[in-house]
Amino acid sequence: MAATALLFRDDAYARECDATVVAVTPEGGIVLDRTVFYAQGGGQPGDVGTLAGGNGEVAITNTVYGADRASIVHMPAGVCALQVGDGLTARLDWNRRYARMRIHTALHLLSVVLPFPVTGGAIGDGDGRLDFDIPEAGLDKGEITDKLNALIARDAPVTERWITDAELDANPGLVKTMAVKPPRGAGRVRLVEIDGIDLQPCGGTHVRRTGEIGHVAVTDIEKKGKQNRRVRIALAS
Ligand SMILES: [Zn+2]
Repeated sequence: MAATALLFRDDAYARECDATVVAVTPEGGIVLDRTVFYAQGGGQPGDVGTLAGGNGEVAITNTVYGADRASIVHMPAGVCALQVGDGLTARLDWNRRYARMRIHTALHLLSVVLPFPVTGGAIGDGDGRLDFDIPEAGLDKGEITDKLNALIARDAPVTERWITDAELDANPGLVKTMAVKPPRGAGRVRLVEIDGIDLQPCGGTHVRRTGEIGHVAVTDIEKKGKQNRRVRIALAS
């Protein structure tokens, strides 16, 4: 299958794009030449939305990488009439994606407030979690919430840039997430920087400034085994 151009990687705020169907998988998934739909990965779910073309409109319920990891497959709700060569408009469910961008960026801040190794994480619609390798308990929900909101209030710019795999290997301290390998490909790695606060490899979608996150709250802290604490946060505004 042909590689899909990942428009979301250069502009997380692109809500729609024109595209052409380049393949339909045996499962009925639709591969486009380019897309604004984020494909499931790094703890962030695949985008939902619609594909609208001459043969009508179809709802997309999930977006995943193809087996080749280069093509992106849009999974339709039911059978769809789209065929190879069809032109269409791919349109995100923007409200849902934007909530995920806000939570995703807030999780970067959580990894600063709790500077411990991250062993896992997940992003939902308006909430999310990180799992930390922390030997001692004693984490305080209110204190973590206050620290998170103080970082958000700094309204720090969030920027992305690429470095080579060799540069990353020379700076192993950049990798906080033990469970999720940094997104490598073609010898380069994408770094996400929250100005003055955080710098780490990440392939996900983020807001442009921390102020866009709005208020968040720590909703739960669970013990997951002797050395692990799961911290859940949610958008509170
Ligand atoms: Zn990220």
